[in-house]
Amino acid sequence: MNYCSHCSRTVVLRIPPGDSIARYVCDACGQIHYQNPRIIVGSLPLWQDRILLCRRAIEPRIGKWTLPAGFLENGETLEQGAIRETMEEAGGRIAITELYSVYSIPHVAQVYMIFLARLLDLDYAPGLESLEVDLFLPEELPWEELAFTSIRFALERFTQGHRGLQLGHHRGSV
Ligand SMILES: [Zn+2]
Repeated sequence: MNYCSHCSRTVVLRIPPGDSIARYVCDACGQIHYQNPRIIVGSLPLWQDRILLCRRAIEPRIGKWTLPAGFLENGETLEQGAIRETMEEAGGRIAITELYSVYSIPHVAQVYMIFLARLLDLDYAPGLESLEVDLFLPEELPWEELAFTSIRFALERFTQGHRGLQLGHHRGSV
């Protein structure tokens, strides 16, 4: 960050009084610009034994497979965000089952929150950000072609627990 989003003057990076972390501070208007991690919300949609994945049409990791997920928007609950992203990326209608995987990536300031979900019908179709959408049995998952470690984490937890499905949520980080 170089310029203040309130008054357009130059900001400086320093620890404000009473704080312990360096922030972008505007000396012209006094604004402190706090930056915090972003939440990426998504779903692990199931149709019987099959898992719905999307193949990415956009960077990063274009052409790789992922679960439908994206940035939570202001004014949304986590569940609403997961349902919206699944519709946007996969044309998939889901019912949320429960929170499944929480995965922190501190070096890029992201937290993934993936919900286990039930796919309500087979009318899915790739959205603008997907090349294709398909259902995979656990033994068919494209492990070498997954887009993100956060997605791998959720799928590994899920497939390990698949026979006697381990519900409850799983926490991880990189
Ligand atoms: Zn300012």
